[in-house]
Amino acid sequence: MNAALPKTKLIATIGPASAGRGIIRRLLTSGVAAFRLNLSHGDLVQAAATIAAIRELSSQTGRQAAVLLDLPGPKMRLGVLAEPVAVSRHQEVIFCADDDQPAGAVCLPHDIEGLAKKVRPGDLIYIGDGMLQFRVKARHRGRIHAEALLAGVVRSHKGINIPTSDVKESSLTDYDRRCLAFAVEQRVDAVCISFVGRARDITAARELLPAGGTWHPCLVAKIERRQAVEAIDAILAEADAVMVARGDLGIELPLEEIPVLQKEIIAKANMLAKPVIVATQMLLSMVENTRPTRAEVTDVANAILDGADAVMFSEETAVGVAPVEVVRTARRIARRTERELLRPGCRAEQIRTNVRVSDQIEDMISSATHDVLANRSVALAVTPTSTGTTARRISRLRPRQWVVAITDNPTVRNILALSFGVLPLLAERIPPDRRAIAAFLRERGLAGRGDRLVVTNGEPGIPGSTNSLHVIDLS
Ligand code: ATP
Ligand code: MG
Ligand code: MG
Repeated sequence: MNAALPKTKLIATIGPASAGRGIIRRLLTSGVAAFRLNLSHGDLVQAAATIAAIRELSSQTGRQAAVLLDLPGPKMRLGVLAEPVAVSRHQEVIFCADDDQPAGAVCLPHDIEGLAKKVRPGDLIYIGDGMLQFRVKARHRGRIHAEALLAGVVRSHKGINIPTSDVKESSLTDYDRRCLAFAVEQRVDAVCISFVGRARDITAARELLPAGGTWHPCLVAKIERRQAVEAIDAILAEADAVMVARGDLGIELPLEEIPVLQKEIIAKANMLAKPVIVATQMLLSMVENTRPTRAEVTDVANAILDGADAVMFSEETAVGVAPVEVVRTARRIARRTERELLRPGCRAEQIRTNVRVSDQIEDMISSATHDVLANRSVALAVTPTSTGTTARRISRLRPRQWVVAITDNPTVRNILALSFGVLPLLAERIPPDRRAIAAFLRERGLAGRGDRLVVTNGEPGIPGSTNSLHVIDLS
């Protein structure tokens, strides 16, 4: 195992600052576990090219990275601006149709049918997760005249939120359906469903995937609406993974709700042993600087201490000045913070305590494996798995060592790619005995003579039957 790799999965959004092959390569060798392609920006042709580059460079560098496609969802966005527009406080801007931009005015173009009808004078319009705010002054012939309340720079395709009027029904738009078909075509590892409101939104996406077959992407529910927070238990039961999507969440709910919600959602996901991603503004100042603020470093560390499996970077790696440095910084923070997860009294310890008293066989096995891993002479945990359950249950106890999960099911591999400290490996056939497992690990350079492993074991071919473990010394 590469000892310098963080167990926290680092997710980097690809954008103009990082789409080049040189940067993708450096992001891979810096420890990125997954790349996110946000389909709100850039088209499917570009996305296909980026996916091809990621796959090729992954195999060249020998660093496995998952591909995560983020579906746009029913979000209103600005259109294309010829160039970024700087607005100052109190300046008047006009929100207008793309083909209706009055000369001499500061225009923010869009192609949203009836946008002017959705607002009244006095309403607030938020742009780019609320980084900019405007107050509506008047509506005139389909145009909205508004006053800037904050100074800043407006860029193409920034999201628009109007809290007084936003009513979002189904979270899957027609374009999302096309994007899902694209995800299937490209066999991406994970798909993020935006603006999920209820468990049914996840089921609806799942129904659009090919029936049967062993390959499905990991479906990640983005928690970014009040409704989703209220339906969190049902959504967690249905989704494969969740994302605390703090961007829109911080507009739909008061900002001060975010820290507590983050902890609650992570705790629930940990209890179910489902991967949880924390996203948005984690190292935001690195869009412009090569060093983050103390507050940001603390935010990343706190997410890991809360129990996040993954942390995600958006504009930091998509449009920032130093995408590689963002990942290197995150890796350093993660490696330092992960040591704290081993201490008694941390939140992982609470989960360990709960699991220890559970009477489920899966919990007994994961707990016993964790006990064995408390001994530093053990180099790795190895779980041959057809469901991924055992690996995820060991992962949530946050052991010091890596969990190597060997599976013959690509869907299971996809989901495990986002779990803390799990290295998922796909095998044509799960190695049936200790000798075969040892050979499998040796071939991949993951273990060698003298290494001590703890290996979980069940009835071959019977999912969910893991009921024993062995400690073996490789000779
Ligand atoms: P979401 O609500 O899905 O998070 P977002 O607009 O916040 O959408 P992010 O992917 O979080 O988008 O990235 C933040 C910002 O970085 C974007 O608003 C955009 O300005 C920029 N960005 C991200 N990806 C791209 C891209 N592929 N091309 C251009 N700009 C991008
Ligand atoms: Mg965002
Ligand atoms: Mg969003």
